[in-house]
Amino acid sequence: MKHFLLLAGLTVASLSASAQSTSSTSTSTSPSSAVDSPAKFLGYQIGEHFTPHYRVLAYAEQMARQLPNRIKLIPYGATYEGRQLMVVAIGSEANLSRLEEIRTNNLKRIGLMEGNPTAAAQPPIAWLSYNVHGNEAVSSETFMDVLYHLLSSQDAVSQKILNTTVVILDPGLNPDGHDRYVNWYNQMVGRTPNPTPSAREHSEPWPGGRYTHYLFDPNRDWAWQTQEVTQQRMALYQQWMPHLHGDFHEMSVESPYYFAPSAKPYHEDITPFQRKFQQTIGQYCSRYFDKNGWLYYTRERFDLFYPSYGDTYPTYNGAIGMTFEQGGSGRAGLAIEKADGDTLTLRQRIDHHVASSLATLESVADRPAEIVKEFGQYFDKSRNAPIGVYKSYVIKSNGDAGRLKALQQLLERNKISYGYSGKAQTVAGGFNYTTQKNDKSVSVAADDIVISAYQPKSTLLKILFEQNSTLEDSATYDITAWSLPYAFGLQTYGLTTRINPGSNQQPAVAGPSAMTTGTATNARPYAYLVRWQSLPSVQMLAGLLKQKVRVRAAEKPFDLENKKYPSGTLIVTRAGNERLGDRFDALVRSEATRTGADLTSVQTGFVTTGSDFGSDFVSGLKAPRVGVVVGEGTPPPSAGEVWHFFDQELNYPISLLDGNTLGNVEWNKFDVLILPTNYNYARFLNDKTLTAIKEWVRAGGKLIAMERAASFLAGKEGFELKEKERSADADKLTDKLKKGNPADSLKLYVDRERTAISDEIPGSIYRVNIDASHPLGFGLADGYYSLVQNAYNFDFLKDGWNVGYLKSNNYVAGFSGKNAKEKLKNTLLMGVQNYGRGSIVYLADDPLFRGFWYNGKLLFSNAVFMVGN
Ligand SMILES: [Zn+2]
Repeated sequence: MKHFLLLAGLTVASLSASAQSTSSTSTSTSPSSAVDSPAKFLGYQIGEHFTPHYRVLAYAEQMARQLPNRIKLIPYGATYEGRQLMVVAIGSEANLSRLEEIRTNNLKRIGLMEGNPTAAAQPPIAWLSYNVHGNEAVSSETFMDVLYHLLSSQDAVSQKILNTTVVILDPGLNPDGHDRYVNWYNQMVGRTPNPTPSAREHSEPWPGGRYTHYLFDPNRDWAWQTQEVTQQRMALYQQWMPHLHGDFHEMSVESPYYFAPSAKPYHEDITPFQRKFQQTIGQYCSRYFDKNGWLYYTRERFDLFYPSYGDTYPTYNGAIGMTFEQGGSGRAGLAIEKADGDTLTLRQRIDHHVASSLATLESVADRPAEIVKEFGQYFDKSRNAPIGVYKSYVIKSNGDAGRLKALQQLLERNKISYGYSGKAQTVAGGFNYTTQKNDKSVSVAADDIVISAYQPKSTLLKILFEQNSTLEDSATYDITAWSLPYAFGLQTYGLTTRINPGSNQQPAVAGPSAMTTGTATNARPYAYLVRWQSLPSVQMLAGLLKQKVRVRAAEKPFDLENKKYPSGTLIVTRAGNERLGDRFDALVRSEATRTGADLTSVQTGFVTTGSDFGSDFVSGLKAPRVGVVVGEGTPPPSAGEVWHFFDQELNYPISLLDGNTLGNVEWNKFDVLILPTNYNYARFLNDKTLTAIKEWVRAGGKLIAMERAASFLAGKEGFELKEKERSADADKLTDKLKKGNPADSLKLYVDRERTAISDEIPGSIYRVNIDASHPLGFGLADGYYSLVQNAYNFDFLKDGWNVGYLKSNNYVAGFSGKNAKEKLKNTLLMGVQNYGRGSIVYLADDPLFRGFWYNGKLLFSNAVFMVGN
């Protein structure tokens, strides 16, 4: 074992591996003596301790006090837990003094701001993001070293970087996660770090610091922006639109270091220049690593495909985007012994990230003009000759403002411009996402959304909307389909012709909402009706139930006062709510305004067709007391998605129950129990606990079993869900072997990753057959697309309700391994079993996946609020 050393400040002198000997053109004065080193400020050498987020920011603030002309602090918000978010911009005095002009000129050059740029030269903007995964805490330490090095050292490379480039450094993208890790580690470690891998300081407890407050993976969220850290950061990102973005990570202890070029697959729309620059980064980084004798690899494992990462998202926004990965992460602590007996220290990890940071900035500083020119051309092309078959998109409103508004918000956050059609028109044919066929003509209503591909964010638009993304290599790291029309369940057309959107103000067309406030006839209506169609309906229901308003739901569609109402429509009658007195109307109306739900008032409960409001087919909805099982064994995002949905999106109370304590839960305090996927159910749901839960369901409880939880319950006594007999698959394989020479189908060792993926379904889109007459299918009569990530192979329920299922040809998009594809034929995805007075809901997929599958939120809400009433 090598000595464990706390190496202090090794980096800066030995890092300038570049052969550049050109003298600096800097005219600025030497700042070195003017600034505190991190060691002086913190009281310990970088690498000796993990630094809490506020101290990292405090160091940047100290630098800004000492060198106000070279560094500018740009705060951009706060986390859910109240930690500050901030980036720093650094550069030459000349550039810093005109920083705002540089920023706005950049936006004007690429068409994201009105007006003409000034004639001043445009420096490239290089943005390095540290510590998006909170427990990859080497990155925030790296930030301090990079900042100090650039601002204090006199070497030619640093001077060149500062004089040519505006550098933006984000010290911590996920401070809540960072401090969750750092606070924990600092409590665990003794006087001397213990490198023994089994020592407790190397076993981070659930949920770990990787995730955000709500346990989302912030590096899967760049495009969707579901989390507060992402929303605030991306708002800032859009104001800067950097030319280069580097994202700093850590991977497992045994892997040395990874930098660009990335692995395949590359998305087909990555430009030749962007591809070439992946190589350039590799060349610059390898120079530093070779000189120091450090191990690294490139072109493996980390691909450029899924659009919501810190490398791909910038790439699809015209930048050069890349990931850096150091071996270490939450396991490594200050020092850990590796399998080869060497000890990996925090200081070494920092050195590597500092080296790749400086190498990357140097690669920009050596060709500023070329980078700015290429960036400009990228956006010129986007505006004038956009890529992709479709030159415009039409999205039908179909009377559901909530769904459309959610999409609009996503477009706005990504600075994709859109407008309304503004008039009824018929346009030449286009690709119909619903039927996946070309229609001869498309009729466009005035309040349909039109998006033109002729705009700066054209490539991002194309990628987020593409029906099926071309996959050049199937061994990818993530989901392989994300097409927004399917995620939102919005009827969409891709047109090969250009049509220009009208105003982005919604035209005044008579929508389905006939809510008129304050008219004499409606001042005291008999009832209020809310179509059950997307998230605002659910938010409205949650708000009303929380305030103890009695709400009922129509099981069957009905007609009233010349309007049609589908199954699931919420009925809020004055009858039953008398105790609210005069507050009733104001309360219902203000909830509708707050949520944007589609509210209608009616003067009678006597329907034209369907069931009158007093019928048995109009069932009362109760405010469910909801618990969700979390803790060890649950992938944190699977728990976090449920938590975030109730807490942030519905503002509805939920109890998080630790799986280890299920034996002590008083079940009569709950109406709904949600089991997200978990690997520990064999332990959490032992015979005694499972029996108690079954008794509770029998007495009227509702159990919602998602993914692995459904699979765990399948085949157990009392649970109707069953895995299919596996004979069909086995027979097919035998047939195949019989047909050819068996020796031809032996697998090669070199193909082992490929062979393994034939069972995989990393996330692809399937059209689900829905029984929309069942409460689990309410509001989904127009169809539902699932992001399928499991191939559980469930049989149809014999006595229960098969509400969502796949027939033999429901595949829409994305990669499905051939064995997985076979399993997903004639398979149950969503089912409901009645059990005593209660019910059990089985969901083979995760409808809340990463919080971005918008239509899944309605499906999930059906399970919680509608089923079993
Ligand atoms: Zn990471």
